Amino acid sequence: MKRIDHALEPTQIGMRRTVTSFHYGAAGVGEKAYVQASLHADELPGMLVMHHLVKLLDVVEAAGRMRGEIVLVPVANPIGLAQGLLHGRIGRFEAASGENFNRGYPDYLATITPAIEASLGPDADANRATIRAAMRAHIDGLVPSTELACLRRTLSSLACDADVVLDLHCDLEAVLHLYCEEPYWAQCEPLARLLGVETALLAKNSGGASFDEHLSGVWWQLDERLERERGVSRPAIPMACMAVTVELRGQLDVNHELAAKDARALVDFFVHRGLIAAVGQAPELPALRRQPTPLAASEDLRAPHAGVVAYLKGPGDQIDAGEAVAEIVDPVAGTVTPVVARYGGCLYARGLRRYAAPGDSIAHVAGTVSFRTGNLLSP
Ligand SMILES: [Zn+2]
Repeated sequence: MKRIDHALEPTQIGMRRTVTSFHYGAAGVGEKAYVQASLHADELPGMLVMHHLVKLLDVVEAAGRMRGEIVLVPVANPIGLAQGLLHGRIGRFEAASGENFNRGYPDYLATITPAIEASLGPDADANRATIRAAMRAHIDGLVPSTELACLRRTLSSLACDADVVLDLHCDLEAVLHLYCEEPYWAQCEPLARLLGVETALLAKNSGGASFDEHLSGVWWQLDERLERERGVSRPAIPMACMAVTVELRGQLDVNHELAAKDARALVDFFVHRGLIAAVGQAPELPALRRQPTPLAASEDLRAPHAGVVAYLKGPGDQIDAGEAVAEIVDPVAGTVTPVVARYGGCLYARGLRRYAAPGDSIAHVAGTVSFRTGNLLSP
């Protein structure tokens, strides 16, 4: 394993932060996987998974079982990790700018398409190489003007030529779930089965240029654009980057037992992809726990007025249409208002706080019938 420390510049006088990457295997031999943890710096389960994953990959590499390249960034966001206010941590947004750390990644499609469009042909492998070279040239040419821009450039640069990208996050209180773009579901399904994912949420361009979609989206969006322009005789564009956001349950689900289990599942997935040679038989794929559902069918339940949140349902519960998931209790007015799911489905995440202001999000239910449009991600 090779360790590389990437300095984040430009920064303040007297301050220098780094992002560290661990590199297993060899570049250009087989597939490449990239895994990062805690881009939202207050979402810590992934960091502990990385601790266990490093130990497993050390053994794999020592045994000569690497068949590709695996890059790990165990702590993806040292800027957010250092932020705090009044004994609380601020890991989702950069305090200086208010920007979400998981938004605003480079728009590769817009920047590379004009230069490469004419050189694409019927050979999917050649097109993959052409597109990746253009992405590499674009990211190498960026000159970041802030530390946050440098963080985004560093992470994108490490991941932009990977076949598999796993961005490890977590929700507030939640079951294990993931976000994946529709064209990659077939590639993602084995991962969902090995991890024991309860809910897979599928979309195409959720909006906001999140880390996963800025990499996976290049390929299917280019394919659709070429299809509009040239129809069936268009160049062959492979779905070459399965980038997935894995939500490792809730913020408090940080323990060795879960982390070791998740790390083993990731190694099994790398074996399944051929990045690591199997010992004996390849890992068996458990059954999928639930069929994937559209992110556009995910209902965000909100408090109708202020009050104490008394939950009636928890993460993993199946909710019927019209069923209450919580009550909002105002002990001064003496009101008790049920918060009802309009559509049924799996309650996959709920809030941590037990007091809600009017309009606060208190739970998410994964339904099956799409009804949302526009930007599908939380701020
Ligand atoms: Zn997150």
